[in-house]
Amino acid sequence: MPVKRGRMFFMNPGPTNIPDRVLRAMDRPALDFAQAEFKAIALECFAGLKRVFRTEQIMVVYAASGHGAWESALVNVCSPGDTVLVPETGHFSLSWSEMVRHYGVEIETVPGDWRKGVDPAAVEERLKADKDHKIRAVLQVHNETSTGVAHPVAAVRKAIDAAKHPALYLVDTISSLGSFDFRMDDWGVDVAVGGSQKGLMLPPGMCFTGISRKALAASQSATLPREYWNWRRMLDGERQVRFAGTAPVHHIFGLQESLKMIEEEGLDAIFARHARLGEATRRCVAAWSKGGGPELFCTNPELVSNSVTAIQVPDGHDANKLRDVCLERFNVSLGGGLNRLNGKVFRIGHMGDLNEPMLMGALSAVEMGFGVAGIPHGAGGVNAAMEYLKAA
Ligand SMILES: *Cc1c(COP(=O)(O)O)cnc(C)c1O
Repeated sequence: MPVKRGRMFFMNPGPTNIPDRVLRAMDRPALDFAQAEFKAIALECFAGLKRVFRTEQIMVVYAASGHGAWESALVNVCSPGDTVLVPETGHFSLSWSEMVRHYGVEIETVPGDWRKGVDPAAVEERLKADKDHKIRAVLQVHNETSTGVAHPVAAVRKAIDAAKHPALYLVDTISSLGSFDFRMDDWGVDVAVGGSQKGLMLPPGMCFTGISRKALAASQSATLPREYWNWRRMLDGERQVRFAGTAPVHHIFGLQESLKMIEEEGLDAIFARHARLGEATRRCVAAWSKGGGPELFCTNPELVSNSVTAIQVPDGHDANKLRDVCLERFNVSLGGGLNRLNGKVFRIGHMGDLNEPMLMGALSAVEMGFGVAGIPHGAGGVNAAMEYLKAA
């Protein structure tokens, strides 16, 4: 391997760039997690997380990847014989629901076009047909990281209410939290799942669930087996007082710093920055797509994601070849296509600790990469992004 100089431009939609401030905050000796000093830091973090989730209800933090919080959301509220209803939006919706298969819970999918948004009317119709209320939970992915479609969380809540169905509303906000608007309480979300390594700019390995009082009550009578993920083990009333085993002490040090950074910048300014970077990326792709070039995977302009853009290459071309070129020649790391999109789609993550020149560097590398990989594309993508950013 030739020696590479300069920084790798890390444009994956998770993990994301970890700010130096967060790395420095983690570079310190361990603390006893039963000690008052550590407990105070953890409490500060739980309160800060609630502000980012926009909830005044319950927050639980675990040492695990996002998959852990996924499993925790399900095993705490479901019982054997229940059904979970999952609008099919892409790879993440399917893999989340798959987690309950081995627990004797039925999975029912609301079919959907991966390039478009969830259809709330179809969800409402299915819930209305469920007269015996076998459906325990509706599972919605807010930002489908595999497709770059940001689904309307509040509209699905309205559909559940319109069907007068008691199902709990479980939402994955792993790749939207801290990047664009998510409101757990206002949008009537019962369990909100988050992870450390996307908009929160931390290393992977820590995850969160925001829990509504209704979901906590439902967990009392739910009977799926659970031990590591059992909310009750961690909570005293509504407050988290322990972790399952040793607390992830250094992740908490990092979280304290990332929450400080988020509060300094302000959620509104963070969302505006992500919107700017997302729109610049889309302007670039629009120019590339001319004459049958690579195009936006998301076909609904109202639901484009501001944290990740999925780009479909023309038929007969390999998106992974482009990714290899970008990594080997230009030291730019891009996300691949997941599930049935493997080889057809590549993804540019633009979430977390990122600014205009970082994005422009990555877009330039992709434009060069098209040339090297022989992928036909319209001219002027990078220029279109620059023109937009100058004025934005
Ligand atoms: C990244 C991601 C996950 C999985 O998180 P892990 O930490 O890899 O388990 C789940 N859902 C969405 C929407 C994601 O973007």
